Amino acid sequence: MTDLSIPTDPPSTDSVKQPERVHLLDWTTEELASWLVGRGIPKFRAAQIQRWVYQRRAKRFDEMTDLPKDLRLLLDGHFDLFRTATAACQQAADGTEKLLLQLADGGRIECVLLRDGPRRSICVSSQVGCAMGCVFCASGLDGVERNLTRGEILEQMLKLQHLLEPDERLSHIVMMGMGEPLANLPRVLAALTMAKDSQFGLGISPRRITISTVGLPPAIDKLAASDAPYHLAISLHAPNDPLRNRLVPVNQGIGIQAILDAADRYFEKTKRRLTFEYVLLGGLNDSVQCARELVQLLRHRTAMLNVIPYNPVPGLPYLTPSPSAVLQFRRTLIDGGVNAMFRQRKGDEIQAACGQLRRLREREPQVVSIQSAKTS
Ligand code: SAH
Repeated sequence: MTDLSIPTDPPSTDSVKQPERVHLLDWTTEELASWLVGRGIPKFRAAQIQRWVYQRRAKRFDEMTDLPKDLRLLLDGHFDLFRTATAACQQAADGTEKLLLQLADGGRIECVLLRDGPRRSICVSSQVGCAMGCVFCASGLDGVERNLTRGEILEQMLKLQHLLEPDERLSHIVMMGMGEPLANLPRVLAALTMAKDSQFGLGISPRRITISTVGLPPAIDKLAASDAPYHLAISLHAPNDPLRNRLVPVNQGIGIQAILDAADRYFEKTKRRLTFEYVLLGGLNDSVQCARELVQLLRHRTAMLNVIPYNPVPGLPYLTPSPSAVLQFRRTLIDGGVNAMFRQRKGDEIQAACGQLRRLREREPQVVSIQSAKTS
């Protein structure tokens, strides 16, 4: 990848926090409508504005050409449409694009656009940092700073949508960026409600929206009680508690069985096939014995196992598995009747794994290749 070293955003007033201003993306269509009606403006304007933002990819109020000019000025005076500044934008040869966004309070988050055949999937963060402490993951190395707001979650989706060509459409959303989505469930659900809204929002079916979790049973039950059948992915990474306690320390207070029970309840409620994720770490969880134990756990479940080779994080001692270990692991799973998919890594060259770009940028800012931004 070429290093163009062009700053992606001009100095922006967006990065100076102005507490009296409202982040438009924090508001539902109904909230916007009642604000407008309170100022004597017809309610239908709210729908028009939302369609400009979520469907017509507007970046500024003055692009909303079918709104009266004084309404555009009123909106501009009261709302921030976008609040993040693009700190870096990277593009890999396979079409993957990654944004490092700087929030109004200086926090940084990552989000990714993946192109795969006709699919245009986006991977979105839910928190600044992460409290789960998975030992191999870059996102949680400095703990969690805070939850993202509804608007900050939606802003990632929209800024990634801005990277698309006019004839490309977002098709899938995965909540697999930085953070634990189920630790910020109310805001994640509020953002996804807008993402799936086909009238005013992005119009992405909940079946094409995946929430990935480390496995927090009470929150999985709450998610099951919400009315949308989102696709649930559970990051398992180990087939037994002693090993999972080492790799995913939050497991110590939970245990695999409680997670599987919650996953079964989720399946009962939604009838959506579950996905379990398993990052293969060389010499740690990639043995044939681990694969056999996984077969015992998953054989009788309507589930898929997504096996992902580890994407090394600079400074951490974990290794990508050897090709022969991957082969034996795979054979054991398939012979055992597990529906396993071995995922190819995408966007390796741009540190597309969780939390990697932010970390690299903080430690070695000169290493990051920056593309001139298409986003504002
Ligand atoms: N907290 C959520 C979402 C986080 S990231 C969860 O745990 O599911 C999404 C997935 O990427 C998780 O399965 C996570 O364990 C995995 N992951 C994190 N760092 C990785 C790395 N360096 N290489 C490969 N996968 C990684």
